[in-house]
Amino acid sequence: MAFADRLNKVETSAIRELFKLLGQPGIISFAGGFPDSALFDVEGISEASHKALNTQPGAALQYGATEGFEPLRESLARFMAGKGAGEVAASDLIVTTGSQQALDLLGKTLIGPGDKVIVEGPTFLATIQCFRLYGAELVSAPIDGDGVQTDRLEQLMVEHKPKFVYLIPTFGNPSGAMLSAERRKRILELAVAHNTIIVEDDPYGDLYFDAPPPPSLLALSAQVPGSRDLLVHCGSLSKVLSPGLRIGWMIGPAELLAKATMCKQFSDAHTSTFAQATAAHYLQAGHMPATLEKVRKVYAGRAQAMGDALRRELGSAVSFVQPQGGLFVWARLTGAGGSLQDGHVYARQAIAQGVAFVPGAPFYCSQPDPATFRLSFATASEEKILEGVSRLARAL
Ligand code: PMP
Repeated sequence: MAFADRLNKVETSAIRELFKLLGQPGIISFAGGFPDSALFDVEGISEASHKALNTQPGAALQYGATEGFEPLRESLARFMAGKGAGEVAASDLIVTTGSQQALDLLGKTLIGPGDKVIVEGPTFLATIQCFRLYGAELVSAPIDGDGVQTDRLEQLMVEHKPKFVYLIPTFGNPSGAMLSAERRKRILELAVAHNTIIVEDDPYGDLYFDAPPPPSLLALSAQVPGSRDLLVHCGSLSKVLSPGLRIGWMIGPAELLAKATMCKQFSDAHTSTFAQATAAHYLQAGHMPATLEKVRKVYAGRAQAMGDALRRELGSAVSFVQPQGGLFVWARLTGAGGSLQDGHVYARQAIAQGVAFVPGAPFYCSQPDPATFRLSFATASEEKILEGVSRLARAL
């Protein structure tokens, strides 16, 4: 078949092949990016969906406004304000079908063939694919344990004059890194100094373990004059409540939201009104704080169990920063004592030992570090994590 040229720019993900092997019996998987389905608040969501049907059946089952179901926009605005984002009005955000759609709408509205976009190295795989589909030339900004390196970022902004910069500042996928408060402020200053849009993708910020992370770029934008007009913030209920609801949102300059809304009209007309009404009732019922407390506690325990086991069983063969939130440990094979140094080879050997994870190289848009790999601690019990890490040690 003669497909559109734009498809030449993207490949199906290298890690999909690996996922086919996950169905094998007895495999312990650290490979997925899913939250744990056992943690879904089925009762609360069920109650909310009944309320949606019983109190607003017409609205919940009818076509709706492209910008989103008004009660949900209001609830999300309150949710964001409650997280320190300052004044957020319902009209400051549009509801998207997952934050994935927000990324797609940003691609549609901002990226033309050959446009430069700076992303972190490593970054979310679907973002790389999505932006490339619109013809973006991606430039990779290096990160360390404190997130993106702002000095390098500034050099790259000067050199490439990107259309925008895409960051996952808090517990990024795959890096798990938390951008320091100082760097957050610097990034907003860079946005203003170079008149460049910054996209803050933040599906994991609520999943902190001990102390809350530094305020979001959105929250901090109040301190850096002019930066709010250059900031796009993408949020999602996927990791904290349920990805199946497909509820995301985008906060940004009115001009950009208007164009994104127009593009969404041609794409899915609107996000499921039933899902939006359900999410609105869920938030209005005040269930979110308890839900967040519960999931944070479980993931914190699993992250600690995985970190401790990795240090104990793999020792100097791997290096990693203990995550302070999110779902992932981002690790690197050091080659110490002649052990493995290639994440792909390691992933294959690990499958043979009955444990799966994702090699890190595909998460880079350029200059991949082949020694890296990503482990998710989200879906395995602490007991399974210990067994899985023992298998990782045997696969080295
Ligand atoms: N951004 C990042 C960084 C993610 O990891 C994900 C999900 N894996 C998404 C966006 C998309 O999530 P959703 O569409 O479910 O909101």
